Amino acid sequence: FPSRLPNVGTTIFTVMSALALEHKAVNLGQGFPDFACDARLVDAVNGAMRAGHNQYPPMAGVQVLREAMSQKYEALHARRYDANTEITVTAGATQAILTAVLACVQPGDEAIVLEPCYDSYVPNIETAGAKVVRVPLTPGTFRPDFDLIAAAIRPRTRLMIINSPHNPSGTIWTDAEMRQLEALLAPTDIVLISDEVYEHMVFDGQQHQSAARYPGLAARAFIVSSFGKTYHVTGWKIGTVAAPASLTAEFRKVHQFNVFTVNTPMQYGIAEYMKDPAPYLQLSAFYQAKRDLFREGLKDSRLKLLPSQGSYFQCVDISDVSDLSEADFCQWLTREIGVAAIPLSAFYVDKFDQRVVRFCFAKKDDTLREALQRLRKL
Ligand code: PMP
Ligand code: GLN
Repeated sequence: FPSRLPNVGTTIFTVMSALALEHKAVNLGQGFPDFACDARLVDAVNGAMRAGHNQYPPMAGVQVLREAMSQKYEALHARRYDANTEITVTAGATQAILTAVLACVQPGDEAIVLEPCYDSYVPNIETAGAKVVRVPLTPGTFRPDFDLIAAAIRPRTRLMIINSPHNPSGTIWTDAEMRQLEALLAPTDIVLISDEVYEHMVFDGQQHQSAARYPGLAARAFIVSSFGKTYHVTGWKIGTVAAPASLTAEFRKVHQFNVFTVNTPMQYGIAEYMKDPAPYLQLSAFYQAKRDLFREGLKDSRLKLLPSQGSYFQCVDISDVSDLSEADFCQWLTREIGVAAIPLSAFYVDKFDQRVVRFCFAKKDDTLREALQRLRKL
């Protein structure tokens, strides 16, 4: 039968992690921490299992977790999401985004993505049978260009996906940019997916501007969050979607026949752990220290550091180091220098080279030091 996704291969993250393993390279490619999560979180999940929370939860997720998320949105962004009708627990952000896309676009609709973007967005839209309209972020700064976005909005535009803090560039949308988006979308019925998985990793005193803060955006937005990122448990694959009741109702129609429910003990364990806000309130400082350690180690190298305002990624310009394409450079770096990275071209449909690769600094300080030691050979 004809392929549903003829242009899709294995994700770059899987490819580079396998290569890193094969060559015993320090893996700064795929984005995941190499350190343990908080033992209290593991205890909370164990406690939930021992307490017998091991059968199907409600389809939308367990009540206490939906309530904990509702309270968190109210505390951080002054918007009240109803735990019963507006918050759904998902199997990570990846399932949340696919489910939201499937819920709101029809074949023939158009969906706007801003490139570079996380590699699941485009295949998700194609799976739904909609047309992907790609708008570049401004080269070099990776900021949104509202003239280009406005020009991409057409009568069939049904959806737009944004991501701040941004993977791969770390760019954080400003309040002014969020307002500009709000004004631009006001006369339309475009649905927004706001991918906010790096919401608690914002550096240098900046603030995460959640779509929840903007009434005109919140009214049309699926806001996606990931406990995997926030609590150092990417393998748990658990997150949430907050959206107005009408959008949530459509989301749940797809969700219930997609995963139906997400595993029960982790939902109880995370809800218990969330009673203490310190872990997410301290996350920015925690990652800022790692970003600074990594940047300090590279500052005298020929890898040129791009800004990293948020997320756990640091991009560098390789043009003074190599003439190889980004993709070939990442292969070479893994095999010969022993450090894995991700080529920025992986975040574009048309793989053009801008001489930039992405490192993930969500690693133990010793891991970062070992990588820096190796990178000094460049
Ligand atoms: N969106 C972005 C921007 C990401 O970087 C990631 C993590 N790789 C995801 C979504 C997926 O998150 P999860 O692991 O919760 O599915
Ligand atoms: N989000 C992570 C990254 O960008 C990895 C996700 C994945 O492996 N699919 O590196």
